[in-house]
Amino acid sequence: MSAFDVQRVREDFPLLRQEVRGRPLVYLDSAATAQKPQAVIDAIVRFYEHDNANVHRGVHVLSERATEAYEGARETVREFINARDAREIVFVRGTTEAINLVAQTYGRKNVGPGDEVLITHMEHHANIVPWRMLCEQTGATLRVIPVDDRGELVLDAVDALLTEKTRILAVTHVSNALGTVNPVKELTRKAHAKGIPVLVDGAQSVTHFPVDVQDLGCDFYAFSGHKMFGPTGIGVLYGRLERLESMPPYQGGGDMILSVTMEKITYNRVPHRFEAGTPNLEGAVGLAAAIRYLRGLGMGAIAEHDRALMAYGTQVLESVPGLRLVGTAREKAGVLSFVLEDIHPHDVGTILDREGICIRTGHHCAQPVMQHFKVPATARASLALYNTREDVDALVRGLHKVREVFG
Ligand code: PMP
Repeated sequence: MSAFDVQRVREDFPLLRQEVRGRPLVYLDSAATAQKPQAVIDAIVRFYEHDNANVHRGVHVLSERATEAYEGARETVREFINARDAREIVFVRGTTEAINLVAQTYGRKNVGPGDEVLITHMEHHANIVPWRMLCEQTGATLRVIPVDDRGELVLDAVDALLTEKTRILAVTHVSNALGTVNPVKELTRKAHAKGIPVLVDGAQSVTHFPVDVQDLGCDFYAFSGHKMFGPTGIGVLYGRLERLESMPPYQGGGDMILSVTMEKITYNRVPHRFEAGTPNLEGAVGLAAAIRYLRGLGMGAIAEHDRALMAYGTQVLESVPGLRLVGTAREKAGVLSFVLEDIHPHDVGTILDREGICIRTGHHCAQPVMQHFKVPATARASLALYNTREDVDALVRGLHKVREVFG
């Protein structure tokens, strides 16, 4: 498809075809989880109808097919983010597990008393809590890159925060609470100049624009299948091969070993060393189908659609009296967070729900950045490749209704 045809795209998503509360569904909560195209649903059903068996060990035909599907999915992910080698792709449960894995393997090995871990003030709790836990376990200190009033990182502060004590920089590519796109390539360059590895939280980025981990240069990149139109319960940790090979195992169990005696255990090679137990086979199969779907549309075309819709959304939301956007960074993707004066975001969400409009309200698992903006919560409309200007117009009509209800 050369020109991006959003109406055609919508037909691929069966869930979107319904009415809720007597009105056509307007789904503006894809940053929480995205809907699934028929191709993903079909791939999962097909796997169970034809190929299901356990992987890696079986000699029979079904196990061979299932192994091919699972390892083929790894190759599909490799290509999607342009990693050098499929061994750099570790399947995990999601972004949260990917970050915990790095904190508990790379972190436990390399971080000690007096060391520092550097994150930013706009992180999701998934990129705060694992590092806090690591600091408590090791006696290290958590340092934070500040955020300004637009919701951009204060880049002038970065050089001084990257010190000889810093053992890792962990930063989100796109903020789920504000939509800010961070300059992760530049941050990686700065950190690498001081020999500091970088983990990028890609949960909100891979759905909106092409990601090339070699171009970014980061050491780790984490993302979730369910936010990129794939299934829940599957995600990816990309790690540079030399980094992964130097890390101890994460969980222990089957598949992550080469041999076990009661005296000695030899661990498996990367990436299997980090994938203990029967993996999420249907998840990997569904994720690969989601990537093929995205590739079919073209990430460049998707990025253009998303950018145009964000620009339109920003413009029309700003026209709603009393509405304040929270996060006005120069570069944003997918997220429009806002507050309506004197009306609690939860009330905004509840009234919109009556109109068939799904948004998210709350702190978005990013309480520190809410504190920075001095709000307990925001209302968040998040956009995906199946959203239209009509969806955004419905949101604006809904917000006018909210204002009427609250006089
Ligand atoms: N980081 C960011 C920026 C996110 O938006 C999310 C999900 N809201 C996560 C991490 C955690 O992802 P998951 O719950 O899929 O592990």
